[in-house]
Amino acid sequence: TAPVFTRALAFGDRLALVDQHGRHTYRDLYYRSLRLSREICRLCNCVDGDLREERVSFLCANDVSYVIAQWASWMSGGIAVPLFRKHPEAQLEYFIRDSRSSVVVAGQEYMELLRPVVRRLGVPLLPLSPAIYLEAAEEPAEGQEQGQEWEWEWRDRGAMIFYTSGTTGRPKGALSTHRNIAAVVTGLVHAWAWTRDDVILHVLPLHHVHGVVNKLLCPLWVGATCVMLPEFSAQQVWEKFLSTETPRINMFMAVPTIYAKLLDYYDQHFTQPHVRDFVRAVCEENIRLMVSGSAALPTPVLEQWKHATGHTLLERYGMTEIGMALSNPLAGTRLPGSVGTPLPGVEVRIVSEGLQKEGCPHAVHAEGDESRTKVSPGFEEKEGELLVRGPSVFREYWDRPEETRSAFTADGWFKTGDTAVFKDGKYWIRGRTSVDIIKTGGYKVSALEVERHLLAHPSIADVAVIGIPDVTWGQRVTAVVTLREGHSLSLRDLKEWARGVLAPYAIPSELLLVEEIPRNQMGKVNKKDLVGQFYPS
Ligand code: ATP
Ligand code: MG
Repeated sequence: TAPVFTRALAFGDRLALVDQHGRHTYRDLYYRSLRLSREICRLCNCVDGDLREERVSFLCANDVSYVIAQWASWMSGGIAVPLFRKHPEAQLEYFIRDSRSSVVVAGQEYMELLRPVVRRLGVPLLPLSPAIYLEAAEEPAEGQEQGQEWEWEWRDRGAMIFYTSGTTGRPKGALSTHRNIAAVVTGLVHAWAWTRDDVILHVLPLHHVHGVVNKLLCPLWVGATCVMLPEFSAQQVWEKFLSTETPRINMFMAVPTIYAKLLDYYDQHFTQPHVRDFVRAVCEENIRLMVSGSAALPTPVLEQWKHATGHTLLERYGMTEIGMALSNPLAGTRLPGSVGTPLPGVEVRIVSEGLQKEGCPHAVHAEGDESRTKVSPGFEEKEGELLVRGPSVFREYWDRPEETRSAFTADGWFKTGDTAVFKDGKYWIRGRTSVDIIKTGGYKVSALEVERHLLAHPSIADVAVIGIPDVTWGQRVTAVVTLREGHSLSLRDLKEWARGVLAPYAIPSELLLVEEIPRNQMGKVNKKDLVGQFYPS
């Protein structure tokens, strides 16, 4: 394995990126990054051009400048720490301080924001000007092209620190090596059959595995093209899907809330039957794959999307610490609510204390697809914690040796903290053990499952299900709901309706109506905060 940028020269004049500035070839990306990497080294007083895992934080727009900053961090032997422009100042400061970055690279539009932060921290700030990320400096003459020799051993060198989403606490820096990242990329390239002819539309933030690894590094790995919007806009996404300009989009990936927003736009703007027929026909003909991940995909969204575009969304499961682990198949049946089977190179297990007490260390063990899944006799459909092992699993939580140690079992499995079950030949994520598995009157209820069903209610626009403390029941299933415009809903109506679809103990016993459910950029709800909001402890 080699870092993705070392492959770039082989793709030469192929189109790597289309963004708000125009079109950029692989060669453009390579030489502009090389130039920035020298500036980074200079600023860090690094004489031999190898930062040896010093951290390089950077804050860039969603365009070519992001790629240049990330590749330059790698070319200078550093660890890339992508920052996100929508994070508040205090959070940016936390990431730069926590990662002990040696330098912060910033697009010109973010200099103002970062200047006081770096002054407080005493870290140098390197402006990333269009002269660097748009002009191909130092490009050698035709025929003399040469890649630099990268002398150090790459495989186990730290490549990225991604901060986790902070859904269950303060975001933790997860440090992945080049080998870890290459394992995720090659697994996805294989499973989803990426080729150099693919063209993906990119609309996600670039500080998270989904946006960086799945949507950017995969296309760059194979020599394909990434068309990047500066940020998500439902109108622009539909325009891109329907546009005849080349290169034509043939792949898309997003979080469930983005699909929900695209459907809202569709409902409002594509009202005529012939327009809908047209939209569906174009999507069916031009697009080969649409993927959903980062949070559970509600079944109604999957169904409406299928109706609108003819595509059954491919749902997959991943995590900052492990990259991508489970995926529905490219060819073959994608079961709604399931996250499929392990990606190439990924091993998974389902374990629980209960199973161990019964003399079985784990309910399920899989090394690859269904055919290599072993379920211990009598333990089918038993819930437990999902464990993951393989080359895609990260090296450590940055600067948190204690947390790193306790995140792994003695024999090296990463504990995801998610509850899962294996049934019908597939894996199903029931949610985060700490907040999504609600224990009520001796039953365990998956909040994700209840949310999935409630979203089918005609009056419910968005919902988060939480467990609130209760003396009698342990916890009570509570639905926090945003209503569709002009609708109303009472607890009694909801209970009545839910009787047909949910087990009695899973029916919410409380309904809280809110204007909006707080979600972060990746569509995730911090449920601890949500519980705390209504039931301060
Ligand atoms: P933190 O670790 O800081 O609390 P986080 O776990 O939300 O935040 P991420 O690494 O971004 O941070 O998210 C990984 C989690 O997202 C998984 O552990 C899982 O709970 C959830 N997730 C990802 N994909 C899916 C999916 N397809 N279905 C259900 N849950 C998913
Ligand atoms: Mg997590």
